[in-house]
Amino acid sequence: MPMIQTSPSGIRRRDWLRLAGGSACAAAGLAAFPEVRLFAQQAQHFIAGPPVPDVPPQRVSQRVWLVHARDGFPTAANQGLMANVVFVVTQQGVVMLDSGCSLQIGEMALRMIRTVTPQPVVAIFNSHYHGDHWLGNHAFVNAFGADLPIHALAHTRAQIEGAEGSAWRSMMERWTQGATLGTKVVAPNRTVAHGQTFDFGDTRLRLHHYGTAHTPSDLSVEVVEDRVTYVGDVAMGNRIANMDDGSYVGTLRYYAALHKAAGDQTWLPGHGLPSRDLLKDYGDFMAGIYEPCVQAVKDGAPMDAARAAVLRDPRVASRAAGMQGFENNIGKYISLAYLEAEKEAF
Ligand SMILES: [Zn+2]
Repeated sequence: MPMIQTSPSGIRRRDWLRLAGGSACAAAGLAAFPEVRLFAQQAQHFIAGPPVPDVPPQRVSQRVWLVHARDGFPTAANQGLMANVVFVVTQQGVVMLDSGCSLQIGEMALRMIRTVTPQPVVAIFNSHYHGDHWLGNHAFVNAFGADLPIHALAHTRAQIEGAEGSAWRSMMERWTQGATLGTKVVAPNRTVAHGQTFDFGDTRLRLHHYGTAHTPSDLSVEVVEDRVTYVGDVAMGNRIANMDDGSYVGTLRYYAALHKAAGDQTWLPGHGLPSRDLLKDYGDFMAGIYEPCVQAVKDGAPMDAARAAVLRDPRVASRAAGMQGFENNIGKYISLAYLEAEKEAF
């Protein structure tokens, strides 16, 4: 559960923003005067972060396109671009599979869609409640109206509508030093469930959910005709997954169930590049963390011994150098694996 840390500068910025927002609103009433209108426009521009540079979309399959986020974590330099934005071009319009990490990233994704098709965006699916996957909803509602269907599992919707939603919005502002300013929480407005299908003319989407993996509510979306499945953060290409709300056992169970239901696919992650081996590769890494912890618990060995065994495990050691966030996070995620192994053994 992410916490909002209130730093003195954060408080100052919020207060200032309230003032700036108030001024802009008051000025709007006087917009008949050209100089006041100009001021309002400038204030609006100032309290919103700058546009995000274009990232030309990569074609994954006949219908599926990827706006790839190269970085795994948000910084001022990348303006929060840390998660992929995926879109599916169907006969009935464009369907978003996650929407980006901010208003500005959603707007960039929309510009990239326009390089491929003039069709409107007709639906969004949000994979889970971590803000890097849905804060871009704001851009699409701005462009296509508040009635644009935004689909998510019930638990994801509740989290985004609750404290988690606004916490992610403010954390993203802080991590990017204000580059995402202007982004509003736009929560999903439709609840979906495992097994549902959606038809968009020539394209069928099938929804999958198999219990807690990366979070308690990870939606995977299968683009049936293309044999491509977007898996959100259940598996990652180049980055260590946040396991604070997740489960190792659950993740491996999820992979097995998803593979059984969908068959061999191109697996497209929220972080990293698509691959037919993604579930196997990331599953090996997760098992390389979890299995030594299970053994340590069985042997009555302490957490430190488990940590050493995990770092020695070739499934983990081989990934250490190329995986974003490994150094900073592996210790914490081994502890979580050890605690889960203890709980499972009890
Ligand atoms: Zn996530």
